[in-house]
Amino acid sequence: MVGDTILEARNLTKEFNGFRAVDGVSLSVRQGEIHSLIGPNGAGKTTCFNLLTKFLKPTAGSISFKGEDITGHAPASIARLGLVRSFQISAVFPNLTVLENIRIPLQRRLRGDSYDFWRGEQCLTSLDAEAEALADSVGLASYVDRLASDLSYGRKRALEVATTLALEPEMLLLDEPMAGMGHEDVDRTAELIRRVAKNRTILMVEHNLSVVATLSDRITVLARGQVLAEGDYATVSQDPRVIEAYIGSGDGHAH
Ligand code: ADP
Ligand code: MG
Repeated sequence: MVGDTILEARNLTKEFNGFRAVDGVSLSVRQGEIHSLIGPNGAGKTTCFNLLTKFLKPTAGSISFKGEDITGHAPASIARLGLVRSFQISAVFPNLTVLENIRIPLQRRLRGDSYDFWRGEQCLTSLDAEAEALADSVGLASYVDRLASDLSYGRKRALEVATTLALEPEMLLLDEPMAGMGHEDVDRTAELIRRVAKNRTILMVEHNLSVVATLSDRITVLARGQVLAEGDYATVSQDPRVIEAYIGSGDGHAH
């Protein structure tokens, strides 16, 4: 149900040669919310993200998704449960069109784990309709026949989101979705995240604080590997410890 905890980390810890990059982080993400993870450089955001997406193994602590302990799960197995990492342009095939790119995950989903050579033309046509609908949902309706390599940076990200949505994730984990973008792409991508979040849960690491302020229902601030503050933007941005941590890091508030 909306508002229930969907993803929960308890006491997550990651040590690199004895150094605690993430030090006892507990985090609850509620169903249907956009939850942001912020903090000055070196706070442990990327490490935390990589623990949650299973790219790293925690030294200690546990993670559960929809009540199931996923601490020891592989990335592919959490994807099947509906927890998917997105915003990696590397997942887009440059020499395929937008429509072809979106059809790939749709085919995989239809097929399940085994090949089925007996699916007919009709099936491919229905895939095209679904692929077009997905393209439309990320604002790429008029780009379906373009090569992915011809798209702007922001639109490549939109395409990557469409291929992720084809997997029907319940929850998306986004790693700095605005990184390296100009203003126009930032605005378009923020709008896209808002649209995608309508019937999904999102946890994102993001450096652009004005984007964080406008999109997030809840924010967790990390510093030195620990949770420093949590709440809505108004609350955390006025928290003296948060201000101190940003000023102390020389990271500023103006990203
Ligand atoms: P953030 O993403 O918030 O900037 P990181 O998670 O990248 O922070 O890093 C947190 C701390 O952990 C930093 O001090 C960083 O140098 C250290 N760190 C991150 N990854 C490694 C690693 N693979 N080996 C050693 N130290 C690491
Ligand atoms: Mg980082």
